[in-house]
Amino acid sequence: MGDTHWKYNMAAHLVDSHPNWELTASKETRASMDSKITLTPDEEHRLGVPVTQPKEPS
Ligand SMILES: [Zn+2]
Repeated sequence: MGDTHWKYNMAAHLVDSHPNWELTASKETRASMDSKITLTPDEEHRLGVPVTQPKEPS
């Protein structure tokens, strides 16, 4: 489909729409994909997406 695949939801998108991509991709491709779709802590902070660090309860 023509939906936009933002970096922060790509991992979820792959699971939803391309569940077999890891089976058909080479080891090199999987490693490359991982590095591209994994947010660094700095990126998470800038995007306001608390992927690895849940917000403290207030
Ligand atoms: Zn897709």
